[in-house]
Amino acid sequence: MTASARAACVIGWPVEHSRSPLIHNYWLKLYGIAGEYRREAVPPQKFAGFVRSLAARGYVGANVTVPHKEAVLALSEPDDRARAVGAANTLWLDGVLRSTNTDVEGFLDNLDACAPHWDRDLSKAVVLGAGGAARAVVYGLVARGVERIVVVNRTSSRAEALRERFGDRVHPARWDERDALLADAALLVNATTLGMERQPDLVVEVGRLPSHAVVADLVYVPLLTPLMCAAKARGLRTADGLGMLLHQAVRGFALWFGKKPVVTAELRALIEADLRHCTSKRPE
Ligand code: NAP
Repeated sequence: MTASARAACVIGWPVEHSRSPLIHNYWLKLYGIAGEYRREAVPPQKFAGFVRSLAARGYVGANVTVPHKEAVLALSEPDDRARAVGAANTLWLDGVLRSTNTDVEGFLDNLDACAPHWDRDLSKAVVLGAGGAARAVVYGLVARGVERIVVVNRTSSRAEALRERFGDRVHPARWDERDALLADAALLVNATTLGMERQPDLVVEVGRLPSHAVVADLVYVPLLTPLMCAAKARGLRTADGLGMLLHQAVRGFALWFGKKPVVTAELRALIEADLRHCTSKRPE
């Protein structure tokens, strides 16, 4: 690399599966920017030391993925969004090391792109899951003014914790209530790991949703999850996990490399091809 070239990375454990290098290196090439984006496999016990030496290692910033998204808060200056969500996925050096959570805008921008005006007069959303991704989703829905956000989770105490974190627009519900809650929901979001490759299927009666409902799935391996298939078969508008992944990458790239990139069909096709290739290579 030349002296002026900038470098960023994704830090995770494991990290081989991350598609972030494909995304950011595609944009670097597209915009003719001298820079590089790498993978860094860092175990939990070495994470703090790695983050503290980010600048010394030549990095201007990084993405942070599982299992480090919560631990990174104490090692950086989180913005209001990261603090509210309780997790960060993007770091950048700005005199000090700052952090933010771009899953929030990834989720919202993807919905805006796939289902314009999805939030117009939206009075009730049902969110399945209460983990880190669900916290980003609920933060985004609260920010967009959704009046009633029903959080359905297998472990009730985690859904209750979201109400404590985000206030009384959040209504915790039991996992076995999920189908009965759909009749007047204009948005259904899967923020669980169900439907992911090697995980159990998500069982939910999409047929109970009203015909104007939008369905979003955060899972993107496989690309077309059973939930996305069922929603499309019903003619509902959908927003998939790959779209969210691409949109969440925009701000990090802009912070590190000084150019706000565009999520293009060509970029999406590149990642889709990689996902298909990796899925087909795996043994049954
Ligand atoms: P997490 O913190 O581990 O939360 C997992 C959630 O799934 C919890 O609510 C958990 O319920 C639920 N769950 C797991 N197994 C279940 C089962 N058998 N039955 C019912 N519920 C079950 O994970 P996360 O970080 O929030 O990630 C959730 C998903 O979002 C993952 O698939 C991840 O890849 C995806 N994601 C996608 C993007 C993107 O850009 N597309 C970004 C972030 C995350 P309990 O609380 O009861 O355990």
